[in-house]
Amino acid sequence: MNGEKSEQYYQRAVRFMPGGVNSPVRACKNVGRTPLFIERAEGDRIYDVDGNAYIDYVCSWGPNILGHGKQEIIQAVKNTCDKGLTFGACHAGEIELAEIIQRNIPSMEMLRLVNSGTEAVMSAVRVARGYTGRNKIVKFEGCYHGHSDGLLVKGGSGLLTGSIPDSAGIPEGYTENTLLARYNDEKSVEDLFRKYGNDIATLIIEPCSANMGVVPPKKGFLKFVRKITEQYGTVLIFDEVITGFRLSSGGAQQYYSLIPDMTVLGKIVGGGMPLAVYGGKREIMQYVAPLGNVYQAGTLSGNPVAVSAGIATLKYLEKHPDIYSDIDRKAEKIASAFRKAGMNVNREGSLLTVFFTDKSVTDYDSARLSDTKKFADFYAYMIDNGIYIAPSQFEAMFVSCAHTEEDVDYTCDVISRYFAGDSVPSTPAHF
Ligand SMILES: *Cc1c(COP(=O)(O)O)cnc(C)c1O
Repeated sequence: MNGEKSEQYYQRAVRFMPGGVNSPVRACKNVGRTPLFIERAEGDRIYDVDGNAYIDYVCSWGPNILGHGKQEIIQAVKNTCDKGLTFGACHAGEIELAEIIQRNIPSMEMLRLVNSGTEAVMSAVRVARGYTGRNKIVKFEGCYHGHSDGLLVKGGSGLLTGSIPDSAGIPEGYTENTLLARYNDEKSVEDLFRKYGNDIATLIIEPCSANMGVVPPKKGFLKFVRKITEQYGTVLIFDEVITGFRLSSGGAQQYYSLIPDMTVLGKIVGGGMPLAVYGGKREIMQYVAPLGNVYQAGTLSGNPVAVSAGIATLKYLEKHPDIYSDIDRKAEKIASAFRKAGMNVNREGSLLTVFFTDKSVTDYDSARLSDTKKFADFYAYMIDNGIYIAPSQFEAMFVSCAHTEEDVDYTCDVISRYFAGDSVPSTPAHF
């Protein structure tokens, strides 16, 4: 496998972009490699500038549930582009997208379109604070909610005290209202509510966590979270940026039959374009300007091109509801290949992570027991055998409906060979 051109691009890129990347998750430092530069993608394949083909399980970190280059989406985008890229004004597409979202996720009685998951979460939290008149928020260690100041906290000591920011450049004052709980640990939540309950504006959670690797909620955990937030008048926000339109057409809230007060969507909802959404109960959303006094705005919000990609994607999913059982089944095939090799794997729907630890992974601390050096070795083998996965132990593999049976079987075969100690890379005939 030749990586000459990618290496050359990388040397140019580092002169301009920190680490050569526009998002740190793309850097391959942790796995001792340099990033591949991608030229194009189609179906379940992604192609780098050196002409290597890979079966793609990153799927742009979630959006590509229909695979790459789906004609229905591409044509919709092209048609919209012909009419203009942006107007900064109202257009019919916004309503159509809102209607489709609400049809699938009825708890989003009112919603706002924005440009990224980060922006959507940041706005939803602001609305929850405006609505409740409270300042504190509860988040879970290992859950990612974008990079806004108050949410970049996951570590730090003292669950019951204020928390320390995860990044430089964030004054402690910005995170002193962020309280940390442990995923799947009811007591950690209860302790915070007992102490601060009447000051907690919102509890935000990934209903199935996928940013410390995939960590599904334990049975009853979300129900508990729903109950305690109700009891204290705290707004429950489901961050469904990954799980929305992924775990089911109605997201995690349908999948687990639990209805939050507010929901944040991103990734799939934009069909591969920069688009995200926040929304929820009318009673809460009417606090948003110009109806209410919580300010939130955006020059490119509801961008017609992004909206048309979202509409085309969601319409396709509505027309093909069988997609969900199909991607779940393929993900299970891959998960069972890991299990047969004696590995520890978490799977929920079409999301899965193999953890290089023997202990079952149920939260941030247990995820961190993973041997990242072993993961790096596994990563290299996968890449060298034409399988593109995220360069980190703490990410999900995403299965799309474009993954062919043949490619899934090949993937399982590579996994089996790796754990059987076969170190010889091979390129399958159909590549
Ligand atoms: C990706 C992600 C975000 C942030 O979305 P961006 O579009 O990258 O800003 C927020 N929450 C979750 C759960 C995510 O996976």
